[in-house]
Amino acid sequence: MFCQNCGNQIDDNADVCIKCGCLINKSTKITEEKPINAMAIVGFVFSFILDMVGLICSIIARNQCKKTGEKGMELATAGMIISLVFLSFKVFAILLAIIISTFFLII
Ligand SMILES: [Zn+2]
Repeated sequence: MFCQNCGNQIDDNADVCIKCGCLINKSTKITEEKPINAMAIVGFVFSFILDMVGLICSIIARNQCKKTGEKGMELATAGMIISLVFLSFKVFAILLAIIISTFFLII
């Protein structure tokens, strides 16, 4: 189950959350598991293929997870970071290409 205070995953038999020290109220234990946000999965997959799409989907997914309390926040964050890495590689490659081509133009 998950801590109601910080959302950390904890042992089902635990009385206290190891992350935040919050007491676990077992009577209010959430029995209904929230589904994983579909947009988070889409964003994560696309972060490898189409970084811009992955980035946008992951940002939307993060906002949706915040609002609805759905799972997938970590997935959306991962998708966001991965797509940003790919995107910065692209920007770097383009900049490098521009620098090289101007260098050859000068010569
Ligand atoms: Zn906690």
